[in-house]
Amino acid sequence: MAKRIYLCLAHMSGQEMKYIQEAFDTNWVVPLGPNVNAFEEDLKQFVSPDHEVVALSAGTAAVHLALIGCGVQPGDEVIVQSFTFCASSHPVTYLGATPVFVDSEKDSWNMDPDLLEEAIKDRMAKTGKKPKAIIPVALYGMPYQCDKIMAISRKYDIPVIEDAAEGLGSRWNGQVLGSFGKYGVLSFNGNKMITTSGGGALVCENPQDKQTIMWYATQARDSYPYYQHTAIGYNYRMSNVCAGIGRGQMTVLDEHIHHHQHIAKMYEEGFKNMPGISFHKNPDEKCDSNYWLNTITLDPDLKIKGQELAYKQVIQGAVGGAAGVTHVVDSPITDCQPNDNVEALRMYLDKKDIESRPLWKPMHKQPVYQNNPAYVNGVSEALFKVGMCLPSGPCVTDEEVQYIIDSVKEAILS
Ligand SMILES: *Cc1c(COP(=O)(O)O)cnc(C)c1O
Repeated sequence: MAKRIYLCLAHMSGQEMKYIQEAFDTNWVVPLGPNVNAFEEDLKQFVSPDHEVVALSAGTAAVHLALIGCGVQPGDEVIVQSFTFCASSHPVTYLGATPVFVDSEKDSWNMDPDLLEEAIKDRMAKTGKKPKAIIPVALYGMPYQCDKIMAISRKYDIPVIEDAAEGLGSRWNGQVLGSFGKYGVLSFNGNKMITTSGGGALVCENPQDKQTIMWYATQARDSYPYYQHTAIGYNYRMSNVCAGIGRGQMTVLDEHIHHHQHIAKMYEEGFKNMPGISFHKNPDEKCDSNYWLNTITLDPDLKIKGQELAYKQVIQGAVGGAAGVTHVVDSPITDCQPNDNVEALRMYLDKKDIESRPLWKPMHKQPVYQNNPAYVNGVSEALFKVGMCLPSGPCVTDEEVQYIIDSVKEAILS
């Protein structure tokens, strides 16, 4: 294989330049305009015609504004799935509120509904206040248990902010994620299901909520001829140029989803009879993952070539596009890290020009959140130690998937 195979590389439809050109031709290069409106309409039709969508500068901004929409204030608590990327929980801290972490169940790898209810009851008992919101996450695109989580949300009257940043187009019981909760977060970062180069969106239940979110996303201005403010707002709207990319990407979204799901089938088949390797698939017929990233877990006893070299050196350049913007560390190890065989397989694949990555390190194991309340059952920590993500994007060919499967097989010491 000549070229490097990445986890999920952006792939253009060919329509993007047309819409960008329109933006330039009409001089709409600001964070509003016809492309923004049209992109929002496309997203609305895709996610749910009964909902409203606001296009924003990032998925992280969407989480932040959803929290504001739920009335989160300094001193409040918000329940967040621990097994996630930091963008689910960091915006809680931007508001001076506290993320309370809830562990996963082993089937979907997402928020455990029983533990969620236990956490709500315990927080109410300990603080005398209800958490302000619940944030389940469609990790790697896999749907959470929507029925149970929504039932708990109704029972305790706590709104759900769905973090579907990785789950664009995933469905639970036939319904698209992002349309279950009070708000739904989408991301169009460079490595997500579709991209606007960088961007996100918030799915809202009604036009009033959309209006509120847009107001906060546009510096919260009051209608005077001069700038007058009665609240603190943000500069979070999507530019009309980026929205042009988004409109082009919407023409290939279904194709992308089918491609990710097709690759999942190939991996499932390829790893079926490989001892020590398990492919993570939809746990039941209600779950319909977009398989944004395909993931496997490694039996702790599995031996991988070069395993004795795992974690011997500090990583140079960092993984995942963050090269040069990560803090240099002085130790190659932490007290919670993937097993040696996972790191050995990552290194082995890397040498074969295949990008792979460990599963996301749970937030309750992150040093920055060491003092946060956490309701834990050991599932996400155990998965973090055995799991890894494999190339899954629209640019990965069938031939490359086969090469990846063969390379994993080759890496195993028999
Ligand atoms: C990518 C991501 C986000 C944030 O999206 P950005 O557009 O990168 O800001 C939020 N939550 C999860 C789970 C993500 O993977």
